[in-house]
Amino acid sequence: MSFRFNPASFEFHASTIAPVASRNRRFIIVAASSSFRCDKLLCDSEGHLLLANEMHLPALGLVTTSEHYLGVLNGEDLWARVLTTGILPAHYQWLGLRSQLEVLSADAFQLAGRALQIAQWFYDHRYCGRCGQETQQDEMDRAKVCHDCELRFYPRISPCMIVLVTRGEELLLAHHQRATRVVYSTLAGFVEVGEAVEECIRREIKEEVGIEVGKLEYFRSQPWPFPSQLMLGFFAEYEAGEINIDPVEIVDAKWFRYDQLPQVPASASVAGQLIAHYLERLHQINPHHKQ
Ligand SMILES: [Zn+2]
Repeated sequence: MSFRFNPASFEFHASTIAPVASRNRRFIIVAASSSFRCDKLLCDSEGHLLLANEMHLPALGLVTTSEHYLGVLNGEDLWARVLTTGILPAHYQWLGLRSQLEVLSADAFQLAGRALQIAQWFYDHRYCGRCGQETQQDEMDRAKVCHDCELRFYPRISPCMIVLVTRGEELLLAHHQRATRVVYSTLAGFVEVGEAVEECIRREIKEEVGIEVGKLEYFRSQPWPFPSQLMLGFFAEYEAGEINIDPVEIVDAKWFRYDQLPQVPASASVAGQLIAHYLERLHQINPHHKQ
């Protein structure tokens, strides 16, 4: 029997070195399409991610194409096991990771994202992008190696800043063009090559809403596996300028008073946490501020 991936306790130690003598092996099952796209996870018919063991695998009737050691979860060895996609027996289905956002705990969601991204990295670098030769898996590192030109391919991470601009009791929030519903959120953007994250913050804010910010303060980071972002959360204090939006990126941006906020992102995201943290800070400065 499979069981749902919803551990009551969650103690995970990541590792790239698979143990020689394995303890119990558990698997997050990933589907690889015929074009090696790895964006589906094995779930039950009610949409819950499953954590399989060796005995479950034959019943699925699919071929294993690779497996990748992830580390130790609650004393058991955890692997990402990649299967060819195909028709599943009753009571199983393939689902994308977004379906698990509201289902899994934050820790479990992050681990499922790790499994998918490692599986995708493995197939994205079957051949060397420089000389075209087939790559090999490194024995020690999580890396694919080209032995012809010695280029190494590590799982890709794309740093992305996310910033809450504040002006005393006001928060600058924007309705983004890419948003699928009307929600006002923080500003965000990818760090460009050769750019410090602080430079990226000032550039993106200037480009998207036309204002300049002063003091920056780091908050926290969050892996965001759609597909491989690392969100770096910051606060930025307003310094100068009027809001002047970039209509390609932004539908609307406004200053909102802390007690008159529109629909904002859920607290599972860094954007939601930045906003909640700032409201908490205002409340601590003046307890008459409601949270
Ligand atoms: Zn090469």
